[in-house]
Amino acid sequence: MTKQISLLGATGSIGMQTIDIIREHSHEFKLVAFSAGRNLEKTREIIREFSPSLVSVQEENDAIMLKKEFPRIELAYGSKGMIDVATHSDATLLVNAVLGSIGLESTLQAIKQQKTIALANKETLVTAGHLVMAAAEKYQTIILPVDSEHSAIFQSMNGEKRSQVSRLILTASGGSFRDKTREELKNVTIQDALNHPNWSMGAKITIDSATMMNKGLEVIEAQVLFDMPYDDIEVVLHRESIIHSMVEFQDTSVMAQLGTPDMRVPIQYALSYPDRLPRKQAKRLNLVEIGKLHFEEMSFERFHALKLAYDAGRAGGSMTTVLNAANEAAVALFLGEKINFLQIEEFIERAMDNHVVINNPDLETILHVDAKTRNAVHNMVK
Ligand code: NDP
Ligand code: MG
Repeated sequence: MTKQISLLGATGSIGMQTIDIIREHSHEFKLVAFSAGRNLEKTREIIREFSPSLVSVQEENDAIMLKKEFPRIELAYGSKGMIDVATHSDATLLVNAVLGSIGLESTLQAIKQQKTIALANKETLVTAGHLVMAAAEKYQTIILPVDSEHSAIFQSMNGEKRSQVSRLILTASGGSFRDKTREELKNVTIQDALNHPNWSMGAKITIDSATMMNKGLEVIEAQVLFDMPYDDIEVVLHRESIIHSMVEFQDTSVMAQLGTPDMRVPIQYALSYPDRLPRKQAKRLNLVEIGKLHFEEMSFERFHALKLAYDAGRAGGSMTTVLNAANEAAVALFLGEKINFLQIEEFIERAMDNHVVINNPDLETILHVDAKTRNAVHNMVK
């Protein structure tokens, strides 16, 4: 039977690769609704190719314009439009590939409608993981990780008992600046930062990889998804990005998932789960060609943002909301050429220092803390 899919963030890097998978397996998957931001060219292309029932864009004016061009399609906009896409009655699976904590409310609404959630939008789990996981349990739905590390852990845990897992080992490529000293980071440019050695991704996550905050967000994401204590989550630098992550069990056996770096593999697995589908055009892993895999210890001094993420995770409550909101705001300032590279982590640290943790925050508190933190970070520039 064809799986009916709704997709948030269709015009982004993960969104377009999700569309590749839907196109490659048109008998298995059908795109029934999607959201985009401001990229109307790509939005039009996707509408023409897939004729979905509902499309949502960021701005009202854009929605009005598209409605004139595509009168048979329902058009929506803004956060309400994203919720409409996420909860579309025809869809059984939501792929959330939108960027940032803006994806939180639509995820929660989709869970309430018992949609299966394929989640790339890690900021949602960092900002309010406890709400997402509690809702998933209450409404008996499943959260399937799309992030390659979490998909690797999820796959390595298949058929195993969670209680017998002793450690999660996340691998990190090291990002564009892995060989630079902190001194050398003082003068790096946006273009340098956007030049990732292994993965082609959206701008924000590429900067997050350069600061190592991406791995920090992923440590919190892993804690939330797999309910592991922070002391049992480790990060190891692995330049080749071939081992996507590992799980150690109490008998010291370690399970890993390997493959060439291609996000379409974890995306497809989340779509086809619990089945696997062939991938005809994909590059297969050739270990002989690669020859050697390397592993190095992560330094918290060198990668200070990773330490901030562990600190925020251990502080718990609203502190991870602050970490995420401050990071989103600071990265946007860096991309807008308002601050330099090292100021990203400096601003995040200041936001965390100024915050008093609120335990077990509800949605309203989270939205309030998120907005307040972004505002505070913007004021730091002045
Ligand atoms: P992109 O920046 O490439 O895409 C973001 C998507 O969200 C676009 O469709 C964009 O629309 C849309 N969007 C952005 N802001 C808004 C808004 N205010 N309202 C509505 N829509 C909006 O990001 P990525 O695809 O790289 O990342 C998406 C998520 O997946 C992130 O959480 C990231 O951490 C995660 N992820 C990404 C990986 C990757 O390889 N890229 C790997 C693992 C996780 P538009 O472009 O039309 O404006
Ligand atoms: Mg990842």
